[in-house]
Amino acid sequence: MKLATQLIHGGPTIDPQTGAMGVPIYQISTYQQTSVDHFRKYDYARGDNPTREALEDTIAVLERGTRCLAFASGMAAISTTLMIFSPGDHLVVCDDVYGGAYRVLSTIFSRMGISSTFVDATDLAAIEAAIRPETKGIYLETPSNPLLKVTDLRGAAQIARTHGIITLVDNTFMTPYLQRPLDLGCDIVLHSGTKFINGHSDVLCGFAVVRDRELGDRIRSIQNAFGTGLGPQDSFLTLRGVKTLKVRMEQSQLNTARIVEWLKQHPRVTAIHYPGLVEHPGYETHRSQADGPGAVFSFELDSFETTKKLLENSRLAAFAVSLGGVESIISYPAKMSHAAVPKEERQRKGITDTLVRLSVGLEDPEDLIADFERAMGE
Ligand SMILES: *Cc1c(COP(=O)(O)O)cnc(C)c1O
Repeated sequence: MKLATQLIHGGPTIDPQTGAMGVPIYQISTYQQTSVDHFRKYDYARGDNPTREALEDTIAVLERGTRCLAFASGMAAISTTLMIFSPGDHLVVCDDVYGGAYRVLSTIFSRMGISSTFVDATDLAAIEAAIRPETKGIYLETPSNPLLKVTDLRGAAQIARTHGIITLVDNTFMTPYLQRPLDLGCDIVLHSGTKFINGHSDVLCGFAVVRDRELGDRIRSIQNAFGTGLGPQDSFLTLRGVKTLKVRMEQSQLNTARIVEWLKQHPRVTAIHYPGLVEHPGYETHRSQADGPGAVFSFELDSFETTKKLLENSRLAAFAVSLGGVESIISYPAKMSHAAVPKEERQRKGITDTLVRLSVGLEDPEDLIADFERAMGE
């Protein structure tokens, strides 16, 4: 089955009880038992819920995994999954990792004795050089946020295998429609399903997907212990959202190409970071591992004044955090996604005060262009 079909038919689609064309919202916390020796498959909703399970089965199929676990947010997925590591373990992490992941690693996991080294993961040699005897995992995000830096996932997974450690990839920007890290040899795929997977800016959710069953059992046991699973209402909404993933990604990508083309010739734009541009340093690597450049990119403007005007005066694209919705979202990494990263560290990474990130939605790109032009000129 092709991915477009799996989006519709990949998980359970018919309710076995009633034949309903969809799995209903099981808004239930507990289940009646009939035997003291054998409990039913469902006993308490922190562990299992049929609506969540339908969503998990769908995402597992899309990511080519054997098991997916759905969480209350992307950060719940990331933090819960990181609990598979133990005090004394060390991680090699891409240096422009999502701000929230940076925060849990540098302020919480570090306190629990799980340390991280942040490296420029576009350079496989830098990843390899940071590996120590106690290193247990390589944590990546490609294209990264907000500079869209590209990591060679096959190469990184190969390094991990050589050292007997695992590779974790946050695949939020690409979604399984465009990139499937498990197929490239990685071990754990993480998602903020809040973004493109749900796609309608109305749910917070996250996923961890694995191929190895034992690894899946470990994450599942921590999820159940911590109670970080996704609720039934949000599972239902996400199941509905994911059905249109293909058409949303395709159209958003087309709109992105048009806007990037316009920005390229704009006198106030000094740089564009988008893996769909041949001049992007990761262009070839990205093409070799993904089916498209996606619908998020960042660009730099000539001054803080222009940046402020664009952000504050845009009417169609919402000035907001987040990405991946049907509506375009323009954001300011320095004060939003990367506010948790200290200023000097941010500047060093290229997340300057004139850097803007755009997530392109489904509006007509000509309307967006006209609106941006007006916003910058006001
Ligand atoms: C938003 C985001 C997260 C965090 O997800 P939440 O659903 O907000 O908790 C993690 N990684 C990336 C790349 C994101 O964009």
